[in-house]
Amino acid sequence: MNPTFLASVQRDSADLLYGNAVAGILVSVVASSFLVFAFKTENTSDFKFLWLGAMTLLMAVRYMDVRRWQMQLQNTEYDGKQALTRFVVGVWATALMWATYAVHVIQFSALIEQTTIIVVVSAMAGGSATVLAAHKRTAMLYVFLLLAPASISLLLSAEYADRVLGILGFSFTIVMLAISSKSAAFTQHAIALKNENAALVDHMEQEVEERTQRIYELSNTDPLTGLYNRTAFSKNLSKSLAELTKSGEELALLFIDLDGFKKINDTFGHEAGDQILKASAHRLQSITRDSNLLCRWGGDEFLVALERTDREAAIHLGREIIDALSLEHKTDDAKLSVGATIGVALFPIHETCESKLIQYADTAMYYQKKSKGSSVCVFNEEMEAEHLRELKLKNGLAKAIEKEQLRLVFQPIVSPKGGAPVSFEALLRWQFGDENIPPDQFIGIAEQYGLILDIGEWVMVQACHTAAEWQRSKPLPVCVNVSVIQFQDDGFPGMVDRALSESGLAPDCLHLEITESVFASDVKLLRKRIKAIQQRGIHVSIDDFGTGYSSLSVMQDLAVDTVKIDRSFINNLEGSGYAIVTAVIHAASIMKFDVVAEGVETRAQRETLAKLGVHKLQGFYFSKPLEIDALAVYLDERLLG
Ligand code: C2E
Ligand code: CA
Ligand code: CA
Repeated sequence: MNPTFLASVQRDSADLLYGNAVAGILVSVVASSFLVFAFKTENTSDFKFLWLGAMTLLMAVRYMDVRRWQMQLQNTEYDGKQALTRFVVGVWATALMWATYAVHVIQFSALIEQTTIIVVVSAMAGGSATVLAAHKRTAMLYVFLLLAPASISLLLSAEYADRVLGILGFSFTIVMLAISSKSAAFTQHAIALKNENAALVDHMEQEVEERTQRIYELSNTDPLTGLYNRTAFSKNLSKSLAELTKSGEELALLFIDLDGFKKINDTFGHEAGDQILKASAHRLQSITRDSNLLCRWGGDEFLVALERTDREAAIHLGREIIDALSLEHKTDDAKLSVGATIGVALFPIHETCESKLIQYADTAMYYQKKSKGSSVCVFNEEMEAEHLRELKLKNGLAKAIEKEQLRLVFQPIVSPKGGAPVSFEALLRWQFGDENIPPDQFIGIAEQYGLILDIGEWVMVQACHTAAEWQRSKPLPVCVNVSVIQFQDDGFPGMVDRALSESGLAPDCLHLEITESVFASDVKLLRKRIKAIQQRGIHVSIDDFGTGYSSLSVMQDLAVDTVKIDRSFINNLEGSGYAIVTAVIHAASIMKFDVVAEGVETRAQRETLAKLGVHKLQGFYFSKPLEIDALAVYLDERLLG
């Protein structure tokens, strides 16, 4: 039995015994006085009065004990065991007193007094079976002491009538003991049951409480970091904003996004990623000790709301946060580090509604990340306008194919000598309502929002079909721009195969242009893919050469067919452009690739480039990108010419 359960059972037993005690004491007082005063016998009267005095004293003591229980202990978490002991000792003393009385007086009294004594103690024993039922041993001992000694002393008497009375008393003893035992067992069982039920209810209450707490935690905290989740944070933020509105105070909301987290996740696995997130949450907690408004917004994004914080303080704390989050993380097998970019939105200056405030901080973070990571940026209105525009374009772009808003135009790439076309570059156009959106504005969005694969496939299919058409008049290749994301996609070679076979275009009439940014990715995969494409007979060109990552040594490794020198160098042929073009031409003669100069706009540029030995030229000087109809006219003219 567990200790609290036992204590509770003992207290319940004591409660029952003390609760019935006054009646028991009263009966004892009345019975003892009755017996003493009812029969006058010379040789026992001294004893009787002495005994009555002692009995009265004992009853007084017991009554005081009961009063104490009533006044001080009842309804408290008192020590049941101690109370039981006190009570039981009192009862045993009473029983002994009765035994002494019965045994002593019976020897000297007449049959009528003897009978009366037996009747009185039997009645009291009968009553005790219920009154003392809460303590089995005491109940039985009480019955026994009240009846047995008197009965035995009667049995031992020489008088026949005494012995008959003795037998009666003794039989009664046995019956009463049995009843007492049964009644006590029943009462004890009832007490135990009551306590078991109470314990059960207690346990259930505790369990319900634990579950409620658990449900609260599950629905309000992020399981990985233990920070608030979105729901809980938004709820608390809006509460805080309501209070700040009343007091007219400010709040700064920081949208924190880790830089370079995805790379760690991809390279070192999710476990390492989780460790970084947990550690970052911990660092944020210790830096923003005063703020309980901290949450993991999702992925590697965190939000902190700082009450009574203005622009300057927010920027200052933002920088501290970036420093703290950028500290190295030591995991079991590596030292890892991430950065953080923070966008700040201010309440009430920028917005008073909590969801908008979060959105603005997010927007500020997003713009900062695009221009320069690992720094703090405070929201402004232009960002929002730009952001809305981007969302509008993204939504429009998702339906552009279905709504037939996309089309291709073709810009000739010509030979430097006669200016005859040697190929055409397919360039994408988007007519969005009455707006003509240039590809520089929407290709990035398509890449960012996962639309580029569908759009790229559409371009590939259209370009191959159109080129297959013009093969009939002139067998010239088409150059198709391919985004890095497309090129890295495992479905890419299959998609190109399909476009070729469906259109019937010969693979060597397809040139793919990949921008230099491919070099930032996995070079091994890049080499494999270029090889696979070239094995089909398709040509591969590096676009926008000189603007970014590529170097001529990597070129050799990749063995591309063509390099297109970026327009910015052709624009600047009098300056640094000249050196670049010369260097590339020189490398081309060794590594055996063709060189195309983009953005040729003047006769002077054309002549210089031709002199330098550039293989092909492209630019407005020769032709702007042509609509399909204009392309047909252009081809007819060249064909006739
Ligand atoms: P890009 O691949 O460098 O394409 C050449 C861009 O230079 C075209 O701009 C073309 O119109 C422009 N251009 C040609 N000659 C001259 C010139 O003499 N002077 C000037 N100032 N510009 C000239 P466009 O069509 O606006 O395309 C911009 C970029 O958008 C392309 O640059 C390419 O990176 C991307 N793009 C276009 N179509 C597609 C496509 O279908 N898929 C992908 N992934 N990207 C595309
Ligand atoms: Ca291009
Ligand atoms: Ca280019």
